[in-house]
Amino acid sequence: MMTVLTNLLDLDPAQLIAYCGELGEKPFRAKQLQRWIHQFGASNFDAMTDLAKSLRDKLATRAMIAAPAVISDHTSTDGTRKWLLDVGQGNAVETVFIPEENRGTLCISTQAGCAVNCRFCSTGKQGFSRNLTVSEIIGQLWMAEFELRRTKGIEAGPKGERQITNVVMMGMGEPLLNFEPTVTALKLMLDDNAYGLSRRRVTLSTSGVVPMMDKLSQECPVALAVSLHASNDPLRDGLVPLNKKHPLAELMAACRRYLEFAPRDFITFEYCMLHEVNDSDAHARELVALVQNHANPVSCKFNLIPFNPFPESGLTRSHNPRIKAFAQILIDAGIVTTIRKTRGDDIDAACGQLAGEVQDRTRVQERMEKMTEYQKKFGKNFGRIVEVSA
Ligand code: SF4
Repeated sequence: MMTVLTNLLDLDPAQLIAYCGELGEKPFRAKQLQRWIHQFGASNFDAMTDLAKSLRDKLATRAMIAAPAVISDHTSTDGTRKWLLDVGQGNAVETVFIPEENRGTLCISTQAGCAVNCRFCSTGKQGFSRNLTVSEIIGQLWMAEFELRRTKGIEAGPKGERQITNVVMMGMGEPLLNFEPTVTALKLMLDDNAYGLSRRRVTLSTSGVVPMMDKLSQECPVALAVSLHASNDPLRDGLVPLNKKHPLAELMAACRRYLEFAPRDFITFEYCMLHEVNDSDAHARELVALVQNHANPVSCKFNLIPFNPFPESGLTRSHNPRIKAFAQILIDAGIVTTIRKTRGDDIDAACGQLAGEVQDRTRVQERMEKMTEYQKKFGKNFGRIVEVSA
């Protein structure tokens, strides 16, 4: 009979201690093992030289350390690096590393596809395939950190310069609809025997799953971004269907509750700028009133995202002067506001659109052919995605 190997990337610190206990090992062995996996990027038990040979032999027959396989790996001239990862059954997800002067940010996915179906999001148009497992979520960070180090010749382990200093859960999927695996992965990101990231450097982005925002505030209150995209309920009902279930008043109240437990003193509101849909001066003023409600203001900042059009959306991007005028109204009201500059939007490669265009529900071979087609059409720099301006 074949033994099913336990993927150790699926286990949080407590589960790893329990697993070692089952093997007759003391808890400190779990900490050693965890450091080998998440700080040295080891996938081979023989490399774990401070573990007893008997334990290494046991692990070799019962366990494995495996992240999703890389289908494609592209680096743009500005250093942005994008991996397409195979998560089985014809599904793939995207992980993107964005280097900046003083930090390196990894954008990771939590689901294959997405059920929320926001009108401006090509991932949503593909429907939902399945939730990612813990190993598929944390495996994106594990793979990216050590692959980046290998590329630069930086040694593994805590002495080597860390490449990923910030993580944003803004890739494919709604993280709060895959709650348990997402929180387990978050806990590993924060654990000192794993990645040791501060809560302020890990951001989860949600479309507004109110009960789960409350749960997250209790279990792992990392920095929170909310995909807002509208200033009133009728408009948001049409753009983010989840709003019908959790309308704006409820969402704002959840944001205020979250801030009582969050490490940052503000929520980041993401706002996709859609031409003549949500981009008027009146919308901007309505937003100010929404978040600066006298009795109960929400401490926040805004990130305005110029929309990257895709064929089925029927939507277009707001013009730059309109975006600037919109931002100015927010800024004049005292709200910190940034505009995300997009690049490469003509190649469907901005803001995860490639994911929606290429990844879901197509076979790996078809996806790879499409990737090759994109590269031929748009050159090797395709994958040059976004930069965030202060
Ligand atoms: S914007 Fe986010 S929540 Fe909405 S459909 Fe896209 S991936 Fe899902």
